Amino acid sequence: MSRDDVAEVKARTSLMELVKRFADVRRVGNRWMAPCPFHQETKPSFSINEEEGFYYCFGCQAAGDVIDFYCRVHGLEFREGLEQLALEAGVELSRSPQAADPKAQQKRQFRRRAVDIYELAAGYYRQSLFSQHGAECREYLKGRGLTKETVTAFGLGYAPEGWQNLHDFLRSRKVNIADAVECGLLVKNDRGRLYDRFRGRLMFPIQDLSGKVIAFGGRILISSDREPKYINSSDSALYKKGEHLFGLNVARRAISVTRSALITEGYMDVLTLHQYGYENACGVLGTALTPDQIRRLSGFCSLVECIFDGDRAGRQAALRSAEMLLSAGLKCRVLILPESEDVDSLLQKQGTEAFEAVRNDAPDGLEFCMDTIRRDRSPKEIVQWAIQFVTNLNDPELAAFYATRIMHGLGLSEEELRPALASHSEKRGGKKPSLTKSVPKAMSIQAKRERHLLQFALCFPQHIPLLCERGADRAFATSRGRALWEKLIDYGHAGVSAYLDEGEKRFFTECRMEREYLAADEQKLLEEVLDSLQTMAEQAKRREIQKRLRNHAGHGAHDPIEDLRALQQTLGTGRNDGQ
Ligand SMILES: [Zn+2]
Repeated sequence: MSRDDVAEVKARTSLMELVKRFADVRRVGNRWMAPCPFHQETKPSFSINEEEGFYYCFGCQAAGDVIDFYCRVHGLEFREGLEQLALEAGVELSRSPQAADPKAQQKRQFRRRAVDIYELAAGYYRQSLFSQHGAECREYLKGRGLTKETVTAFGLGYAPEGWQNLHDFLRSRKVNIADAVECGLLVKNDRGRLYDRFRGRLMFPIQDLSGKVIAFGGRILISSDREPKYINSSDSALYKKGEHLFGLNVARRAISVTRSALITEGYMDVLTLHQYGYENACGVLGTALTPDQIRRLSGFCSLVECIFDGDRAGRQAALRSAEMLLSAGLKCRVLILPESEDVDSLLQKQGTEAFEAVRNDAPDGLEFCMDTIRRDRSPKEIVQWAIQFVTNLNDPELAAFYATRIMHGLGLSEEELRPALASHSEKRGGKKPSLTKSVPKAMSIQAKRERHLLQFALCFPQHIPLLCERGADRAFATSRGRALWEKLIDYGHAGVSAYLDEGEKRFFTECRMEREYLAADEQKLLEEVLDSLQTMAEQAKRREIQKRLRNHAGHGAHDPIEDLRALQQTLGTGRNDGQ
């Protein structure tokens, strides 16, 4: 990854378009505002500066550029986020070792073709549903109580009966048939004959967050013993089982507004939930909930409500899911359905009241885990589970938080949990896990001056050369202040943002946000900053002298009195300079 790559991705990606995927963006005065996707609110305090390419939330102080936003909302590391965003923007990360690999380049090109093929196929299935071939399928949807709005919102379609419908359609659109086979839409049998993978099925497109179709699920329309009820696309260049959630692209807004998601198993359940007003519902796509899926959600929600069947298998799955969600630092609740009901049947037969009753009874995730463990396991296994659970928590703060609750909930002693907590204190370099975060010390006057200086430099970079001339390079005494100043000088105002850490980035954006308010007072602020620079320069000299005096004790190389005279002199002349 190079600076050019980062700049290229940023230049080709609209922050506004990206934010719009998660929130309603509105013009307020002369800025663009939205309800914040990162904290729960209905009033918009999330501000977008499209021109300069950064966002800032007045509520939770989240701040950053388009890459930060993408990473945060998808729960990705910087590198990973950059790669995915580059892919979306069609930017080749030229200097990455991957890009040098010709195979990787082929893969990328194939991915692009695959996106087009899936788009074509989705269009074909949608059209078929509303053609004369789709009459039976439309009847089926009606019978399941689905409205046309729901059907359209999720882009449902129909794969007609017959072996070569999609094949012929794709061929007529000049699609490379080998690509379509590799995408998993067509199948080639042992004798080399090509046929459609999905036949006589109601089609559920699986979309990524940008709305691209990346796979399908298909439900058979006329049940038969020879064919499975549901089939999904096989893994492909675009789709890996367990990485995606069905309906997330439709549900993400509601999820980021309410900060909570409803997770269920089946396609139909998701559709029915939406139709009954649960717009934050999405589905796990034929697997148990996976860590990848949790990561996808964790960026923009804090509570996950999981719905499970009331049978033994359902409870087992619920235990695993709750453990994973809790260890990801999310709050979770476990909704167990009455035996032999699924969400779809429950809502259709008994309406939202019955479903709300299940929701109200739903235990908190940790309560559910502990109840299950207490009921099903031997005392020895209980201790083992507790140790395992606490050890698996990545975050020592989280470990401390849960350890106390688990100790009380399962009747364990601190002694018994010690091995798990010890593993965390090793991670923290010997420090004991503690529930209280350290409170930052009150800022010193020096730190405040440095902050003002940096703020001014970030808002009005045209004055940086003058600030340097007046000794800004020597004015910083705190390591944080100095570090940011040096980055600003090394990478320049325009390029520095890629090199900032979290705290610096927040400060950077805050400063840029305030610029428009400060612009009118630029001259006055400049004078203030130059004044304070002078004071800082004097203090720097004082520190220098003090240091020399300290170093001196016992060495006798200099006369301390001489140094003090020098100090007096510099302070004296300092006042006359600088104006
Ligand atoms: Zn916020």
